Amino acid sequence: MFQLFAPSLVDGAFGDPGLLVDLQGERRALLFDLGDLSRLPPRVLMRIDDIFVSHTHMDHFAGFDNWLRVVLGRKERVALTGGPGFVDQVEHKLRAYTWNVVQRYPVALQLDVRELRPDGIWRRARFSSRSGFAREDAEAPALPAGTLHDDPLLRVRAAFVDHGMPCLAFAIDGKPRPRVAPDRLAALGLTSGAWLRELKAAVLAGAPVETPIRVRWRDRAGVHEQLRRVGELAAAVLDVVPGERIGYVTDLRFSDDNRERLRALLAGIDRLFIESVFLDADRAHAERKSHLTARQAGCIARELGARIVVPMHFSSRYQGRGDELLAEVEAARAAPPDQLC
Ligand SMILES: [Zn+2]
Ligand SMILES: [Zn+2]
Repeated sequence: MFQLFAPSLVDGAFGDPGLLVDLQGERRALLFDLGDLSRLPPRVLMRIDDIFVSHTHMDHFAGFDNWLRVVLGRKERVALTGGPGFVDQVEHKLRAYTWNVVQRYPVALQLDVRELRPDGIWRRARFSSRSGFAREDAEAPALPAGTLHDDPLLRVRAAFVDHGMPCLAFAIDGKPRPRVAPDRLAALGLTSGAWLRELKAAVLAGAPVETPIRVRWRDRAGVHEQLRRVGELAAAVLDVVPGERIGYVTDLRFSDDNRERLRALLAGIDRLFIESVFLDADRAHAERKSHLTARQAGCIARELGARIVVPMHFSSRYQGRGDELLAEVEAARAAPPDQLC
């Protein structure tokens, strides 16, 4: 089956947390968190059009400078979204350098920086290399509550969780995708061609049902052409496949309130990337640091009904003991549903 999302941790389970979501066949990617990105080659960094930062602890934001250095002068536009204070924090990062030559680079870079506050209010500013990254305040993005990004292929939603500070947990929801039913196509006497790509693109873009599509096909009698409508063609030859849903959850304390927020955002998630920082034997330490233990992460994965779970953000104190953290997550996931977390 075609998978749109190719998600991977950017720095391994023990490294800085971060998730790359490459979109297959689209030459673009999304990035969650800006910690150590040194394992990502420049060609991958160049594909990233949208960056989301859960919170600005150093392990989630210290990679900003290296990322900027790679894309500056080569890429035109990147959107960055974070929580409260994010626009100022990006501005402070930019102000830390001297920009007396970037104005002359042939490719100007524009950063579209968006900040969501826990009360739902947005702030937004643009910073262009053309003007030495001077701040230009901009209008709030027109998005429904809880949605950070929406395009024809996917949506990114978020909820704030408590990490001793507000921190964003993310849902990456692939939209339903049209798939051609070859048997029905043949039954109608049609063959595939450029018109099918046009039809799928129209369906993905939500085009009105009466939108015309020029269908061309060839048989023994020669080349045929007909003007048909998106609605009738889609019903006749396309099936709709549900999109994959990915969760990226880091950093947070284990509390009823956080669990409730995650259930509202991520129930029934297909693939969950979740912090599993400490072993449960160190639960008191985890609580002081507002982080999850591996067992707590497994409990949350079980509560959400996650199909695939990828634990991450392991504390370096367990270097060489990753298997123990993984085993603890799995044991909690496999516990009977009535067993309390
Ligand atoms: Zn943190
Ligand atoms: Zn962290």
